[in-house]
Amino acid sequence: MNAVNSRLDAEVGVVGVGTVGSMLMWQLARRGVRALGFERHAPGHDRGAVGGETRLFRMAYAEGARYTGLLRSALAGWRELEAEADASLLVQCGGLAIGDRDGDYVGGLLASARESGTPVEVLDRDAARERYPQHRLRGGEVAVLDTQAGFLRCEPAVIAATTLAEQGGATVLRYTDVDGVAERDDHVEIRAGADVWRVRDVVLCAGSWTGRLLPAEWERLLEPRRVRLNWFAARRPEQFLPDRFPIFIRSTGDMHLYGAPSVDGVSVKVAGMALSQPVDPDRFDRRHSPDEIAGAAAVVRDLLPGLHPDPVRSDAFTDLFTTDGTPLVGRIGRTGRLTVASGFSGRGFKYSPALASVVADAVVRGTEGALEFMSPQRLAREGGPAST
Ligand SMILES: Cc1cc2nc3c(=O)[nH]c(=O)nc-3n(C[C@H](O)[C@H](O)[C@H](O)COP(=O)(O)OP(=O)(O)OC[C@H]3O[C@@H](n4cnc5c(N)ncnc54)[C@H](O)[C@@H]3O)c2cc1C
Repeated sequence: MNAVNSRLDAEVGVVGVGTVGSMLMWQLARRGVRALGFERHAPGHDRGAVGGETRLFRMAYAEGARYTGLLRSALAGWRELEAEADASLLVQCGGLAIGDRDGDYVGGLLASARESGTPVEVLDRDAARERYPQHRLRGGEVAVLDTQAGFLRCEPAVIAATTLAEQGGATVLRYTDVDGVAERDDHVEIRAGADVWRVRDVVLCAGSWTGRLLPAEWERLLEPRRVRLNWFAARRPEQFLPDRFPIFIRSTGDMHLYGAPSVDGVSVKVAGMALSQPVDPDRFDRRHSPDEIAGAAAVVRDLLPGLHPDPVRSDAFTDLFTTDGTPLVGRIGRTGRLTVASGFSGRGFKYSPALASVVADAVVRGTEGALEFMSPQRLAREGGPAST
């Protein structure tokens, strides 16, 4: 061991042990890398992008076939995490994409499924009504069934990954709020209050707070947003359990909606997709305004007649969005010792184990990583800050 290594507190520091940070800690531990995680709350908490019991998992992905490799690896990754943690985290109950037969959403999804070889079944309005009477389809709408889709149990997943990391030798400092990181020539310093830790590499996985740890010019490309969720009581709960009610995304005209089956046997989660607003992640209102509630109730009354239209529960969370909606994953800064893995723009839970695996490989090998389309350099090319 040289002089610098002997002074290091760990090989890799992970700032933020939320979704991606917990998966990264687990992946680093699997590779025998000594990692030190910093989390201002405790893993699995609900003040960032985790919370509300479930996250959707999809294979047929309208966002494009470039995500296919990541999604396939993620499916394997979730099963590995379940096996190692002895926990049930991914329920593949299927997923419906509902929209106009000739619209952009269904068209894009079918094109992406064709290109990636992902099997899907197209149900016309009558077939969809027959099989999934919970949804009221409008004229011209179809439902596309993705049998590999389903939902993830988000809080247990983060806790499982963190626990496995700690069992594998990692250290997670809970209730430790990092104030800043500073690159030195042969290490990186992580500062929290009066304490300083030295590590060889740092990965910033701080979700909505990532911009605060980056040079100021990055902040204008990153936007923490408030994302609302509502739960509605089912008139006949058995119709909304995972064996009868797949996850769904519905996108027609300017109406964008998604939901998951009931996991408590009482309520069903339904949320609007395009309704997130920029916020200060430390000071946003988790309550929904009367107008927000009325809007959600009107949509449910119209499209999901098996649910009582007044929500029985409403909450709000935050996630970090980038200006182009694509995550920010890759090296940043002047020494090559700083990596960012953030900006998942409302979609990052489903592929987090696979993404963490790619980041872990890149950090361990000292390479750029295999996700060029997510690289910080692309934003630099589009007029963002130069990234070396
Ligand atoms: C309501 C909602 C619904 C969503 N639905 C889906 C879905 O159905 N499917 C899907 O795939 N994705 C979904 N997403 C997106 C997905 O959940 C996020 O993209 C993903 O969880 C982001 O992970 P992250 O690790 O970047 O952030 P987080 O999970 O928020 O983790 C960041 C962590 O960093 C910690 N932290 C921040 N700053 C510091 C600091 N200075 N010091 C120490 N710790 C710090 C925070 O406390 C937090 O724990 C949804 C997001 C939201 C908000």
